[in-house]
Amino acid sequence: MFQDKQPVLYMRIRNVTHAGKAVIRRCAGCGAMKDRRDMIRIIRSQDGKVLVDETRKRNGRGAYLCFSVSCLETAIKRHGLERTLKCSVGQDVYTLLREKTEALQ
Ligand SMILES: [Zn+2]
Repeated sequence: MFQDKQPVLYMRIRNVTHAGKAVIRRCAGCGAMKDRRDMIRIIRSQDGKVLVDETRKRNGRGAYLCFSVSCLETAIKRHGLERTLKCSVGQDVYTLLREKTEALQ
């Protein structure tokens, strides 16, 4: 019985990975790998501005954060966003991120 079930389980796992829906990204704060739909996207646009990408459709180099104040604080302390985006991140961006994460706690 158990042996009969294994190929089914294997196929299910393959189907999930081949569906192309879950895109896993690393949090710039805690470093956890999560589905990007559960995260905030921050991008550096082509003209060098750092923006919180609420539509998730903008082009640019992206960084991700969990919806968590502690992840945001870790990212600030470790300069996780700066390292990922390879540029400096203004205080206004951090203020906006703090408002967003605090609103969701
Ligand atoms: Zn995190």
